[in-house]
Amino acid sequence: MPQHSGLGGALDYLGERPLAAGSLLRVPLGRRDVLGIVWQRPAEGAEDPVDEAALRPIGAAFDGLPPLPPAWLALAEFAAAYYQRGVGELALSVLPPELRKLDAPALAKRQARLIKRWAREPKDAFAASPERPALATDQAAALAEFEALRAQPQPAPMLLHGVTGSGKTEVYLRAAESVLDAGRQALVLVPEINLTPQLEARFAARFPGRRLVAMHSGLTPAQRLSHWLAALLGEADIVLGTRMAVFAPLPRLGLIVVDEEHDPSYKQQEGARYSARDLAVYRGHLERLPVILGSATPSLETWQRAQQARYRCVPLAQRIGGGVLPRVRLFDMGVLPRPSGAIDAAPIVFAPPVLQSLHERLARGEQSLVFLNRRGYAPVLHCGACGWKSGCPHCSAWRVFHKRERTLRCHHCGFSERVPRGCPDCGNLDIAPLGRGTEKLEEQLAAALPGARIARIDADAARGKGQLESRLAEVHAGEVDVLVGTQMVTKGHDFRRITLVVAVSPDSALFASDFRAPERLFALLMQAGGRAGRDAEAAARSEMWVQTWHPQHPLYAALKKHDFGAFATSQLAERQAAGLPPYSHLALLRAEARDPALAMAFLQAAAAAAAALPGADAVTVYPPVPASIAKVAGIERVQMLVESASRARLQRLLADWSPLLHTLRAAHKGLARWAIDVDPLAI
Ligand code: ADP
Ligand code: ZN
Ligand code: ZN
Repeated sequence: MPQHSGLGGALDYLGERPLAAGSLLRVPLGRRDVLGIVWQRPAEGAEDPVDEAALRPIGAAFDGLPPLPPAWLALAEFAAAYYQRGVGELALSVLPPELRKLDAPALAKRQARLIKRWAREPKDAFAASPERPALATDQAAALAEFEALRAQPQPAPMLLHGVTGSGKTEVYLRAAESVLDAGRQALVLVPEINLTPQLEARFAARFPGRRLVAMHSGLTPAQRLSHWLAALLGEADIVLGTRMAVFAPLPRLGLIVVDEEHDPSYKQQEGARYSARDLAVYRGHLERLPVILGSATPSLETWQRAQQARYRCVPLAQRIGGGVLPRVRLFDMGVLPRPSGAIDAAPIVFAPPVLQSLHERLARGEQSLVFLNRRGYAPVLHCGACGWKSGCPHCSAWRVFHKRERTLRCHHCGFSERVPRGCPDCGNLDIAPLGRGTEKLEEQLAAALPGARIARIDADAARGKGQLESRLAEVHAGEVDVLVGTQMVTKGHDFRRITLVVAVSPDSALFASDFRAPERLFALLMQAGGRAGRDAEAAARSEMWVQTWHPQHPLYAALKKHDFGAFATSQLAERQAAGLPPYSHLALLRAEARDPALAMAFLQAAAAAAAALPGADAVTVYPPVPASIAKVAGIERVQMLVESASRARLQRLLADWSPLLHTLRAAHKGLARWAIDVDPLAI
């Protein structure tokens, strides 16, 4: 079969009649019959004419379906090129999986059924307009700015910078109203599936006359297909979803909103490792549409562009309804007496004034949120007699002690075993947890605050279906005094009764090897703090306590003043000095194999190949190193950093390099996987 544009690119087929680009159809591939997309019709007089006799004929076309819009094809083409994937692979991977299983008649039947159903539940075109609040001054200014941008032939993206409760969502709603009234569709992205129902409810309440569909991995295959069809057929006015929704086909798209644009969940971590935030900006550029990026703590990439006036930065300076941010108080853990020398001496859990603040909340019937970004009971079990630790036999990581389920569980490969009675190496019965996670913190809180009603929210506590929802409902109903959890509790939920937030030990992020760790910590603490003080009346006595060994750290100084700008300025200066993004552009070449030497050899061969490419002088290829968790599920992982001051030159090198890597891979049998990660989150 002739292969036209390289690996994973388009294949040529013979059709009896011309099909528009973007048409879906079935095609034979080897002995199978698969879903295909018409990418383009062969150009007249192409210099590489195709030998028609060698072509296989197409199967049935999905005639009842409009072709994917040209802008959609352009987005997929860009994403494939930028993230170094085959265009066919990328395009097919972002279509609803159910589509792959259907032939043309089956899809036509589905479509007819859906159209009938949509007609039966007609959108209420005459629905009374719901109440909308009069805009605050800042919001009105933001909206005016939005309209001004929208009127431009090539609108610049807008950064809506405001803390939780400053009224960003209301601005999204008004912007959406404006484009919907103009007959266009709106696409709204949120970082996490947990956050979709709340936002969905607000959009649905505001636009009773419009059809809204969700797009995320929690839908059934049938729902995903029907929502996708609603988008493509123009039946849906609003699409709200997680990162995958950036690829929703929308023929009348008029606005893209990216809420919490800084959130790492927007980066896909496997397959095509795309950033939905960055693709949203590109899509806006491509379709000449306004894009609103909202955040209290924008990514430094976005912030820098706003400072350079490439993005329009619009601040929302005040909390709606007079709420203010809680007063941030740092407790210097260094002033506490050290626990008596022994390794198992109980460390001080809560500093005295922190404990006092917790007691005050209890006495007043207010809620507290205690935050620790590590789940489980303790990160590791330890034998004091022989030094054994609960390592994972398959990973270079500790297995976490989960006390309630009596297990040692690896958070990387999932390997889980019952906690041994004694030390597996020496039989000592006195094995003890080291460090603490949220489960232990919950226990410590119960001991420190007898009688308090405590609820824990983290990935373990929210595992069962509906468990998260029911816990959140308890919190809202006032049946909980203290909420303890990981970053999961800091996101999005509107807890009106919280007047105290405690970060018990956030310091580790200050010195982590991950260069984005401080940025994340600042965002997390701002977000956690944003849970308090939303109620104007309680705002005056709201506080956030941070227990730290480094009270002088500039991050905490900026946090105390709620000054994201100051924090961003200091971080950007550090990044510039270190030559890190956004002052440089990165890609990681990752390789995985059972034998680390093999993965290493592949990367070394790859480095040699890169050095021989034209344009190699503009790019630095660093020596391969083990990944931060070097072994997961028995597979060793190594990686190699590639860096350039110029995004374009990095891209050019990657494009030339990629085909060579496919060849090299074939020469390194036994390699489990390899991948290029462009703009990686962590290095
Ligand atoms: P954010 O998205 O920045 O967290 P929201 O838009 O959710 O902020 O606003 C916070 C709260 O204030 C919400 O309950 C919202 O309904 C309310 N709100 C927003 N704008 C206004 C306004 N102009 N007048 C009155 N209430 C408002
Ligand atoms: Zn032992
Ligand atoms: Zn493991």
